[in-house]
Amino acid sequence: MELPFFPADQFGADRSLLLEVIREIGLDAEQRFILGRHTAAFERMLGDSLGVADVVACGSGTSALTMVLRAMEVGAGDEVVVPAFGCAPLAASVLNAGATPVFADILPHTMVVDPAAMAALIGPRTKVLMPAHMFSVLADLPRIEELAARHGVRLLEDSAVAQGAVLRGRPAGTWGDAGVFSFVQVKSFGMPGEGGAVVTGDPALGEAVRLLRNHGQDGVHRFVHHRIGYNSRFDEIQAAFQLRRYAGFPARLARRARIAEYYTERFAGLREAGVLPPPSGRDGRCYYVYCLLCERRDELKEWLAERGIGAHVYYPLPLPRQAAFAAHAMPGQQWPNAEHASARILALPVYPQLSDAEVECIADAVCEFAMRHAALPTP
Ligand SMILES: *Cc1c(COP(=O)(O)O)cnc(C)c1O
Repeated sequence: MELPFFPADQFGADRSLLLEVIREIGLDAEQRFILGRHTAAFERMLGDSLGVADVVACGSGTSALTMVLRAMEVGAGDEVVVPAFGCAPLAASVLNAGATPVFADILPHTMVVDPAAMAALIGPRTKVLMPAHMFSVLADLPRIEELAARHGVRLLEDSAVAQGAVLRGRPAGTWGDAGVFSFVQVKSFGMPGEGGAVVTGDPALGEAVRLLRNHGQDGVHRFVHHRIGYNSRFDEIQAAFQLRRYAGFPARLARRARIAEYYTERFAGLREAGVLPPPSGRDGRCYYVYCLLCERRDELKEWLAERGIGAHVYYPLPLPRQAAFAAHAMPGQQWPNAEHASARILALPVYPQLSDAEVECIADAVCEFAMRHAALPTP
């Protein structure tokens, strides 16, 4: 049996659709391949589904973060509070905008940023709070939103992995001044290429990002540059493909949630054996990946690999411990929960193409490992 971490045939069901849109747009008299009517329609569709003022499709989730920071006039001398545990773009986007990331520790079980740790790091230079939804859980946005309002700083929601997730009735991406999505292949609404989007209820931010994504041009006057911008445009073939696949997205997300619920039920009793599943429930959950904490993480990963099951470690180090970012961290600051998580986290396959039998098999393998190792002292 071979169960890779990501589906081997992710777009299998949409293959003819993919060929159809390539043919359609390739043969279209307009011969327009970026930022055309399909991109505009994709933006409108996402905006309508979220009930926000503006959606700006762009080159990637990373570029979406960078452009929002630039649109918020974040630059040299400013600080942005980010989680100490998460993906590189959280720190890189801030540094690439010329500002300084300030790393807040995470909560030990859910692994999202701790609002109290964020609060303690807000100072006179803080311009933006940038929580991220990670792994299987949404950040505590009600508290972080309140914190941002209280301190008069802006809120940028890194919802790159949480498209379609909802917290207290409000969709991920719509909590902050702006949110971002990523459509890179592995994300929950991934596509066969690179792309992202900025989601915002603030028309001025949307307008600024529109300028930035195409070299600072306003879309009316060509070669007139109002700001130093980026090449972060959206592809027409991808837009047409995503437009037509959107109808199936809720069902794929629901399938992910069902798989995750099954895992969590199966793993509920394994705490004593050193395996801790994420909190159960559906509100505030995003099952882009399913992450558990395991005291013998590397052994479990090896055990699964021996059984043909792919598992990933997101992420092996806290962000401020990465060589790329360490020099930018506050000297002497510690992130014990991020350290704890990075030594224990393991992501299991949770994609909708998995059959019930395959899901059962993965759960069996984890349970069997836990039973075997329960009697052993933790390393
Ligand atoms: C993937 C990801 C990004 C970046 O998206 P790309 O489209 O790969 O640039 C940003 N933040 C988080 C939390 C992500 O998981």
